Amino acid sequence: MRLFIENYVKKVAPLVKKANLAYWEASVTGNPEKYKEAAKYEFEIAKLHSNREEFLKLREFLKEDIKDELLKRQIVLIYLSYAGKQGDPNLVKQIIDKQNEIEEKFNTFRAELNGKKVTDNELKEILRSEKKNMALRKEAWLASKQIGKVVAKDVLELAKLRNKLAKSLGYKDYFEMALKLQEQTPEEIIGLFDKLDNEISPEYQKVKADIDKMLARRYKISSKSIMPWHYEDPFFQEGISFDSVNLDKYYKGKDLANIAKDFYASIGLDVTDILERSSLYEKEGKMQHAFCTDIDREGDVRILTNIKDNESWMDTVLHELGHAVYDKYLDKNLPYVLREACHTFTTEAVAMLFGRQSKNPEFLKKYCGLSDREAKNIAPQLYKMQKFQQLVFSRWCQVVTRFEKEMYAHPEKGVDYFNNYWWQLKEKYQLIKKPKDRNNPDWAAKIHISAYPVYYHNYMLGELFASQMNFYIAKNIIHTDNIKQTFLGDNKEIGKYFIEKIFKPGARYRWDRFVKEATGDELNPKYYKLQFVD
Ligand SMILES: [Zn+2]
Repeated sequence: MRLFIENYVKKVAPLVKKANLAYWEASVTGNPEKYKEAAKYEFEIAKLHSNREEFLKLREFLKEDIKDELLKRQIVLIYLSYAGKQGDPNLVKQIIDKQNEIEEKFNTFRAELNGKKVTDNELKEILRSEKKNMALRKEAWLASKQIGKVVAKDVLELAKLRNKLAKSLGYKDYFEMALKLQEQTPEEIIGLFDKLDNEISPEYQKVKADIDKMLARRYKISSKSIMPWHYEDPFFQEGISFDSVNLDKYYKGKDLANIAKDFYASIGLDVTDILERSSLYEKEGKMQHAFCTDIDREGDVRILTNIKDNESWMDTVLHELGHAVYDKYLDKNLPYVLREACHTFTTEAVAMLFGRQSKNPEFLKKYCGLSDREAKNIAPQLYKMQKFQQLVFSRWCQVVTRFEKEMYAHPEKGVDYFNNYWWQLKEKYQLIKKPKDRNNPDWAAKIHISAYPVYYHNYMLGELFASQMNFYIAKNIIHTDNIKQTFLGDNKEIGKYFIEKIFKPGARYRWDRFVKEATGDELNPKYYKLQFVD
């Protein structure tokens, strides 16, 4: 067994490093050769994991009674990597081709608005800022859904193909397979989402009514006539902006990378070396999003950002550095296979928790020079805005996750059925009014449904775990009752907690045990509710 692992790491570690380096180069420069190189290594890694013989060997290993916990954990994780790449190669290729075909349609499609081709960003900008012309808002919203019709049939075809693969490997459907490969089960996730729904639902009704009232006032219409196109984004996933809170002005002219460095240093986490290796600012040809990468699991951690001096980038820099400190402070004595975050949602949680600080009154005071009075005045509005954002997002996650479950359970029910089902979910969880007689594949207009399948729930788990850590730190380390707007800086004990309890364990435990060891309680929505429902 140990020999198997040794050989495995010898093969996979250099490939992973090469793939990460090529992808980094590609993202920073935009060089198509580098993108090709990265794809080539990715393919080699996938091929390595598709080896049937080794997969069966791993399955045999798992039947043995392995006493050594670390050894067993490594076998489990390697097994899952192989399990995700098994199946008839022809079918696997069909799935990849279908997915690429859909993504290409997303990339090249331009919606038409009043006879003119427009980009997604232009449509989003109208929904964000148009305050007078309601007809234009409606047209923009409708235009944002045009892509749905273009890809809907393909998306259901893709779901059927994914199901075929899942069934051939002994799973009920792709929803179950994808979750199990992430060490989750449908029962666990839906159970957690049901609980969350129960905790949040009554408060969300109030929040939703408040939002509708605010919008009605803004647009000078009645709140009863609020329709999907009156919200600020096409799916109503983000909450709304507050006219009374403009954080961008506080970050104007500030050096955000330096603020982040000082903030992390104030809790004993050193990001100097990370920033030195990173690509922080806009450049010709460079990728426009942000990400963090652990190149080699030996300490070469970098972030890619395109920093501008506004609040959203402050959030993003803190967020990506959250991923980065997680990787940097992983226990380097752990075996290679365990030297990564416990789960996608645990590293997402750390990143989100630190990202939230960009809207924290104490943080603004310390790093943007707000006076005590200013900070005190703005605090209630800041809290309300964040709360709205969170609750709106949580309802949206309910829609996406439950939709995916149903889509993989019955893809044969066809486009019309899912057009209707989508709006049933949106009415039930988001309390959004379905436009009269609407029968359009609005669900297919969300790229995650096809390109990032059965992944969305992890964002929600991340928010839940972020609030759970926040509560633990407030109570046990800072000893404060301020659990709603906790300032997480200026205390070296906080960094120590993260290093010892969150980062160091790496992937040595399954996520449920990890959360319990780190916070004393199992993952649950209680702390999220305590933080965002008053
Ligand atoms: Zn992230």
